[in-house]
Amino acid sequence: MDFRLTDVQLQVEEMVRSLSRKEFAPRAAQVDDEGRYPAENHRRLAELGLLGMLFPASFGGAEAGPVSYAIALREVAGGCASTGVGMAVTNMTGEAIFRFGTDAQRRRYLPMLSAGNGAGAFALTEPGAGSDAGGLSTSAREEGDGYVLDGSKAFITNGANACVTIVMAVTRKSPRTISAFLVEPGIPGFSIGKSEHKMGIRGSDTVSLSFEECRVPKSSMLGAPGEGLKIALSALDGGRIGIASQAIGIARSALSTATEYARDRRQFGQAIGEFQAIQWKLADAATELDAGQMLVFRAAFLKEKNLPYSKEASMAKLFATEAGNRVCHTALQVLGGYGYVREYPVERHLRDIRVTTIYEGTSEIQRLVISRALCG
Ligand SMILES: Cc1cc2nc3c(=O)[nH]c(=O)nc-3n(C[C@H](O)[C@H](O)[C@H](O)COP(=O)(O)OP(=O)(O)OC[C@H]3O[C@@H](n4cnc5c(N)ncnc54)[C@H](O)[C@@H]3O)c2cc1C
Repeated sequence: MDFRLTDVQLQVEEMVRSLSRKEFAPRAAQVDDEGRYPAENHRRLAELGLLGMLFPASFGGAEAGPVSYAIALREVAGGCASTGVGMAVTNMTGEAIFRFGTDAQRRRYLPMLSAGNGAGAFALTEPGAGSDAGGLSTSAREEGDGYVLDGSKAFITNGANACVTIVMAVTRKSPRTISAFLVEPGIPGFSIGKSEHKMGIRGSDTVSLSFEECRVPKSSMLGAPGEGLKIALSALDGGRIGIASQAIGIARSALSTATEYARDRRQFGQAIGEFQAIQWKLADAATELDAGQMLVFRAAFLKEKNLPYSKEASMAKLFATEAGNRVCHTALQVLGGYGYVREYPVERHLRDIRVTTIYEGTSEIQRLVISRALCG
């Protein structure tokens, strides 16, 4: 066993950390305040090859592997969580198209995604179907040489800025069959709702989508008929490593601010970092984050070696996002009143990290996945 990162992984870490600290972090408060999608950050990610990290160079990707990807996402999220989630969903979309798409679909969409000519989006959730992904009601009826989509999707990240959206829809009621479709913006019958007003990751683009008699060609189906749920669940397995990394990145930034503050802030004639109560908070937070990071690396390593990793990805997401939330709470407490106001970034980190225990499967759903793997 070797806990050291490879030279290439270290280079990715250094490059992305520097990008995120110099360019993303300084704009993050403004992006949050204005609830503005940071298109300029998306372009920078593309320039550095960070939007196609999980597919090969022959399709414009960087094929950096899941471990490097986890590191890159952690660093981006540490600077700007909104940019991090946009990057995560674009990479997840590209990887799914690479794994399940035809050659024509790969050639059409993957170079666009990696060049940043639009983001990637993944539309599973509906107003009436969240955790219960199989309970979708959006339908795709076969008609002539295509399918006709009807229904709506909720909370879709990158939905308004996507060049392609993977849409899961019911293609047969009995036996119930779900298929996946690649949908481009601007086609008749496809419309994008208003942006959600969110607590955190306020610069990320989260919209509803609706389909009314929306006709797509048969060639837009991703994978075979009936493979939609399999594609969605397999994309989510990989996506969960990403969300766990996002949480570690956000919480590390919060802890770093809290540690610096504890050194500088003086009360009762000494630095607050000299009180054991504060020291223990920081020690517990650092230990929890390292434990989360280990789980993330284990899941990413298994994925990189093409070994089963679904349970491990859920464990990483469950632990890293719950621990990350605790760490952000702790960090805010260390800053006292200054943690609660916008002078410091910690209140934003706390708002940004909150959603990580919810999207791509809530903590309760991760426990279901883990316990099913244990009990069979
Ligand atoms: C900012 C944001 C971005 C998102 N981006 C996307 C996206 O890009 N694409 C997409 O498809 N979706 C996206 N989502 C949706 C997200 O994945 C869902 O919100 C999530 O899966 C939970 O579904 P729900 O909100 O309908 O909650 P529900 O499923 O209604 O759950 C409500 C509560 O009940 C619990 N619960 C439900 N079932 C069980 C059970 N069997 N056992 C125990 N507890 C249970 C849940 O854990 C939760 O606490 C996004 C959501 C947000 C907030």
